[in-house]
Amino acid sequence: MAVADHRCSMPELPEVETTLRGIRPHLEGSTVTAIVIREGRLRWPVPGGLPRLLTGRTVRSVRRRAKFLIADFDHGAVLVHLGMSGSLRVVPATAALTAHDHVDWVLDGGRVLRYRDPRRFGCMLWTRLNPLQHPLLRELGPEPLAEGFDGDYLHVRSRGRRQAVKTFLMDGHVVVGVGNIYASEALYMSGIHPLRAAGRVSLERYRRLAADVRSVLGAAIEAGGTTLRDFTRVTGEPGYFAQDLRVYDRLGRPCGRCGQGIRRLVVGQRATYYCPSCQH
Ligand SMILES: [Zn+2]
Repeated sequence: MAVADHRCSMPELPEVETTLRGIRPHLEGSTVTAIVIREGRLRWPVPGGLPRLLTGRTVRSVRRRAKFLIADFDHGAVLVHLGMSGSLRVVPATAALTAHDHVDWVLDGGRVLRYRDPRRFGCMLWTRLNPLQHPLLRELGPEPLAEGFDGDYLHVRSRGRRQAVKTFLMDGHVVVGVGNIYASEALYMSGIHPLRAAGRVSLERYRRLAADVRSVLGAAIEAGGTTLRDFTRVTGEPGYFAQDLRVYDRLGRPCGRCGQGIRRLVVGQRATYYCPSCQH
């Protein structure tokens, strides 16, 4: 399989999961000794009270829901979204700052959790309530890698829907974290045309599609595991991983199954790649 030269720049679910696995061992059980906000104007403002709220408090756990990272404290939780270009790294407290290093969590033990976000579409929010009930999270669909996401579920949810199956699959109310690249790849693996009406995909084909969604995301997370060391690298970004892509960004190149040229169209304003002979 050829490796497309496309490189994911936007953190998708696998990158967020990889970030979680990279930072969790450094955060859980650590106490925050200071919060430094250099630039709080993200997609929503970083609460000015965050230093007072978190200083002296211990991170109890770190988890992920959709593309949000949740840091739990005894008295509330912080939600972090990496937006279009955000990253989190754990660096020594002495590490030099680079441009766009907007927020630091100084931890006991001499390390810093550093949030960098050149385009500032991410966010860092505080809630005293159950973070899963936060307005940004409470209406989200199931996790694609968890129990409850399968072909039967997709089949039930899609009955009567005339929208394109790709749009349906990328709807966070249906299932979270299936971004543009992964939707294209999974539909290709399942042989389903991205423009087919969601309500006109059979149960059998949805079972195959659910399995392919899990497999493409799982492979990406596994690939990300090899870059975990980068989460404590002092300079640069965590290096979101280039992946082996079968169809995405491969316009005109031969389909690995039938040799036909891969085509491109736009679905819901997103570039979509498919094989005109294998997908129907
Ligand atoms: Zn083909």
